[in-house]
Amino acid sequence: MSGTGIVDHPGAPLVPPSAADAADAGALAAELRTLETLSRFDHDGIEARAQRAGAAAAELGLTELELRARLVEADLSRMRGNVAAAGRLAQDVHRWASDHDSRHLLARSSFVLAAVFQELGDASLALEHAVRAVDLLVEDSEPAMQIDHHTRLADTLGLAGDDAAQERYDQVLRLAEEIGDVDRQLVVLNNRAYSATVCGRFDAALAFSTQLQTLGAAHGVTLHVGRLDTVARALMGLGRLEEAEAVLLPGLAPEALDASGDGDAGADFLLTLAEVQRQRGSVPSAQATLDECVRRCDRYGLTSIRVRARREQAELHAAGGDFRAAFAEHKRYTQALVDLQSAQRDARARALHAMYETAEARQQSRRYRELSLRDPLTGLYNRRYVDEQLPRLLRRAAGSADEVTLALLDLDHFKRINDTCSHEIGDDVLRTVAQLLQVIESPQDLDREVGSFAARMGGEEFLLVLIGRDPSVAARQLDAIRQSVATHLWADLTGALPVTVSIGATSTARLSDPMPAELLSRADGHLYRAKREGRNRLIGDLIPPAA
Ligand code: GH3
Ligand code: MG
Ligand code: MG
Repeated sequence: MSGTGIVDHPGAPLVPPSAADAADAGALAAELRTLETLSRFDHDGIEARAQRAGAAAAELGLTELELRARLVEADLSRMRGNVAAAGRLAQDVHRWASDHDSRHLLARSSFVLAAVFQELGDASLALEHAVRAVDLLVEDSEPAMQIDHHTRLADTLGLAGDDAAQERYDQVLRLAEEIGDVDRQLVVLNNRAYSATVCGRFDAALAFSTQLQTLGAAHGVTLHVGRLDTVARALMGLGRLEEAEAVLLPGLAPEALDASGDGDAGADFLLTLAEVQRQRGSVPSAQATLDECVRRCDRYGLTSIRVRARREQAELHAAGGDFRAAFAEHKRYTQALVDLQSAQRDARARALHAMYETAEARQQSRRYRELSLRDPLTGLYNRRYVDEQLPRLLRRAAGSADEVTLALLDLDHFKRINDTCSHEIGDDVLRTVAQLLQVIESPQDLDREVGSFAARMGGEEFLLVLIGRDPSVAARQLDAIRQSVATHLWADLTGALPVTVSIGATSTARLSDPMPAELLSRADGHLYRAKREGRNRLIGDLIPPAA
C-alpha cells in the first residue's frame, strides 16, 4: 500500500463532462459495488482490480470512487496482517469523507476501522466504528454489504461478551439465507461460534458449529482449517475430545493445510490438533503434530503461535513424564510470552501513533489551507476562496430550489479617508466594515456545505453571497447592511468624514445556468451605476427591484 495522502481534484468537474466519461463513471461505480462486496473474501485478483479501478477513478477526477477503491485495498491488506497501513489509509479516507459529507465513504471507512481497532486491541473504538458503519449505511445498499456491516458489529459485540450480538447474528443469517449467499452464511456462523467459544459459551458454540458443518456439507463447501479449528474448540470446551480430533483430521491433508496461503491458519490448526491428541493420551502423534506446527511457525515467522507452541510443548513433556524438560520449556514459554506481549504493546503503540500522527499532520495542513483562504487584514474569505467556492456553490444551488444573490460592495471615496486621515485609519475602517458585513454569514461548519458568506475581493471591494433567500429578502438585507455602514459611529475614526458603501446586486433567480463570471459582471455593472447615481445606494436586478 502506498503512503500517499488523499488529494482532492479541485479542477475536476463534479459532473462528468462527456457522455463517454459518464458511461465510464457508471461502469466504475458498478465495479466498485462489486469489489466492495467481494472484498469480504480474499479472492485472487481483487486487489489488482481495486488498483485498476482506483487509477481509473483518479484519471476521471472521481475522488469518491477512487477512495472507495483504496478502502477495498486497505481492508485486504488488513486481512493479510498489514493492520497499521490499513488503519492509516482508512483514517485518511474517513477524514475526507467527513469533510465532504460522503455518507457511503464514512460507513465504509468505519467498517474497516472497526476491524483495525479490534485488532489493535481497542475494543471501545472498534465498537464505535462498527456502530457507525451500520448507522451510516444507506438503506438501499446491497444486501451483501448490509450483512457485512451488521456482522462486523455483531462480531465486535460478541467478542466483548455482549448479548446484543445474538439478535444481530440472527438478523444477518436470515438476510444471507434470503439472498442465498452461502459464503456469507458460513462466515457469520463461523464468527458466531468463535465468539461464543471465546466467551466460554461452549454449548452455543457447538450449536453454531454444527450449523456451520451442515451448511458446508449441504453445499459441497469444504471447511478450511480455520473453520475446522472453530468447530473443534467448541467440542474441546465440552470435553468431547474424540469428536474434536475427528473434526480436525481432514485438515491434515496438505492441500487443506496450505489452502489459506498465509500459513497462519494452518499453524493455529496444528496447535489445536496437538492439544487434542495430547489430551486424548497419544503423546507421539501430538509431538509429531506440534513439530509440524513449529516448522510452520519458523517458516512463516508466526511469533505468537510459536509462543503458544512452547506452552503446549511443556505440557507434552509433562504428559510424557519428563518433568525436567517440561519445567525448562515452561520457563522458555513464560519468558517468550513476556517478550511477545511487550513487542505487541510496542507494535500497537506504533500503529496507533502512526495513525494519529497523520491525523495531526492533516489537521495542521487543514489549518494552513484555511489560512490561505482568508484575507489577513479583515479575516474575511479572500478572492481565492471565492474562485474555488462560487462555481461549486452555484452548481449545487442549480440542483435545488435555493436562490443565490451576489452583491459587490465598494467603499465610497475611500481614497479620501486614506488621504485625509491615514492609511492605518483606512485599514481600521476596512476592518470595521468587514465586521458589519459578517451579519450575513450563516453559522457554517467550515468543512461542510458553504452557506452565505462575505469575502474581500481586494482593496476596498467586497463580495456578499447570500444563499437560499428570496431575492426580495436578500435586497432588504443588503440595504440594511448599506444603512448599518452609513449610520455607524465613525467619528472616533474618521472625524467628520462619512463612510458609506455602494452595492451592486444580482441573483440567479432568472438564470437557468448561471456562471460565476456572468453574475459578477452583472453585479459590477450595477455597482458602477450606484456610483454614478450618487453612491451610498443599492442597485440591482433583484425581484422586486430594490427600493
Ligand atoms: P469610489 O467611491 O469611486 O470607489 O472612490 P474610491 O476612492 O473608494 O476608489 P479608488 O479606487 O479611487 O480608491 C481606492 C483606494 O483604496 C485606493 C487604495 O489606496 C485604497 N486601498 C486599497 N487597499 C487598501 C488597504 O488595504 N488599506 C488601505 N488603507 N487602503 C487601501
Ligand atoms: Mg471605492
Ligand atoms: Mg474600488
